[in-house]
Amino acid sequence: MEENRTLNFIEEIIESDLADGKCDAIVTRFPPEPNGYLHIGHAKAICINFGLRRQYNGKCNLRYDDTNPSKEDVEYVNSIKQDIAWLGFEWDNELYASDYFERMYECAEDLIRKGLAYVCDYDAEQIRATRGTLTSPGTESPWRNRSVEENLQLFRDMRAGKYADGEKVLRAKIDMSSANINMRDPVIYRILRATHHRTGDAWCIYPMYDFAHPLEDAFEGVTHSICTLEFEDHRPLYDWVKIHCGFGSLPRQIEFARLGMTRTIMSKRYLKKLVDEGKVSGWSDPRMPTLSGMRERGYPAEAIRNFCQAIGVSKANSEVDVAMLEHFVRDVLNRDADRVMVVKDPIKLIVENVDAPETYDVENNPNAEVKTTRKVTFGRELYIDREDFAVVPPPKYKRLVPGGTVRLKGSYIVEYVSHETDAQGNVTQIVCRYIPDSISGGANAGMKVKGVIQWVNAADCVDLTLHEYDYLLLDGDGDFNDRLTPDSHRVFDRAKGEAALRACKPYDRLQFMRMGYYSAVGNYGTDGKYEFNLVTGLKDSFGK
Ligand code: ATP
Ligand code: MG
Repeated sequence: MEENRTLNFIEEIIESDLADGKCDAIVTRFPPEPNGYLHIGHAKAICINFGLRRQYNGKCNLRYDDTNPSKEDVEYVNSIKQDIAWLGFEWDNELYASDYFERMYECAEDLIRKGLAYVCDYDAEQIRATRGTLTSPGTESPWRNRSVEENLQLFRDMRAGKYADGEKVLRAKIDMSSANINMRDPVIYRILRATHHRTGDAWCIYPMYDFAHPLEDAFEGVTHSICTLEFEDHRPLYDWVKIHCGFGSLPRQIEFARLGMTRTIMSKRYLKKLVDEGKVSGWSDPRMPTLSGMRERGYPAEAIRNFCQAIGVSKANSEVDVAMLEHFVRDVLNRDADRVMVVKDPIKLIVENVDAPETYDVENNPNAEVKTTRKVTFGRELYIDREDFAVVPPPKYKRLVPGGTVRLKGSYIVEYVSHETDAQGNVTQIVCRYIPDSISGGANAGMKVKGVIQWVNAADCVDLTLHEYDYLLLDGDGDFNDRLTPDSHRVFDRAKGEAALRACKPYDRLQFMRMGYYSAVGNYGTDGKYEFNLVTGLKDSFGK
């Protein structure tokens, strides 16, 4: 690991456990429930768990926490794998909580035999009503003192399908007056008839998270079970299960603050709602804060890792400015993306003194370590952006105006000759002349011009469709249903790009000069479709 950095609190715990000989090597896990696609919050947990694996030369497993069949699906299982691999991490083992259902069941019988679990006939409402509050203890269930034999029989009957869903539960027998409500005889098994995506209909009882999770960790030899802060109050129960089921001081649960981000929905449940209600095109819609959405949008995985590194690990919940994530995206793209010219709203520019087209080499990326160039062709008919010409210029306008001059990026300086308008007064065409020898290195290159604009050659340019996005959420807080940004996806289907763009491949990322960073869509180039997603603008608002 790098020197000169103070350890975060997780590393401190790990180093002291290693020093005390509690373990020889660490084992972590990333435990998603396959009930949705991973989002940027999960990236934080992935970077922590897989980062520790690398740092301490340990292991990190991908474990599906698939104990809730009614919400889970193989589509999610597959997307999760794809997203972790895309982020750049490798797991040691791919594991499923459902593979331990039999072992978990045995642990439950074992608790019953020890007098530490009982079958309760209360329904969910009665359990809630007798749980007590933060200031008052709960009341004991009338079924709490059933004999071991009766409990064993009832639990076996639950498994055998003798009872309806919700008719009985298995509860841990802990302490109904515990100050910690999680310790007031929590439910550890429930009856649920739902087909599981892996075990099918083999089971009609399923373990609850608080019982299953410590066992999964313990079975797999996880040493440090890292989860988010809302489980802090569950840690005594985690330890209770672990100890009474016969495991030692490790695994140990460590909680960190979950990632929250401005203008971002960070919960699979709500993201699913957007998908189900058709508010977005799917889980991978480029506006979604899912890893697959970010991949479609064109975010580099490296930028997400750098962001996670920068936000660090803490124990205090806070909301990160979404501009910070974009800052890291821009950082990688500024270094890596080739620069090209595109006009979003084209208007013809006739250069009347051009006799024959010319081709020059233009540098692709001024920041590249190894400089490369591409061919750009200059000709008599060009396109520039409508915004780069103004008949009546606003103050401080630095582009082409009647009587003015402007430099065409990477090419000549041109001077205005005339323009035409339609019946509504919209400019339809501009005529200009280029100034010979004004190209970089030429005798007139030093001529003063107010501005530089991008252009494309009408003879060889490619028609493009650009997709531009806004945040899904408006600023503020409150119910996200009332905060959806109207018009968060805009389409520009008249754009034109320089010829080199024909050769792009899906997910190629480029800087469209003066416009922003764009990424070729996943089916770029097929069926004559040349489409780009706006990844992020050029301006960095982070820390400003
Ligand atoms: P969601 O509420 O979005 O469904 P979850 O916590 O229920 O999230 P899981 O699939 O259980 O999702 O999460 C897998 C792992 O990712 C857990 O260890 C969880 O703590 C972590 N995780 C989930 N959301 C965040 C977040 N916003 N920030 C950091 N870690 C997170
Ligand atoms: Mg969850």
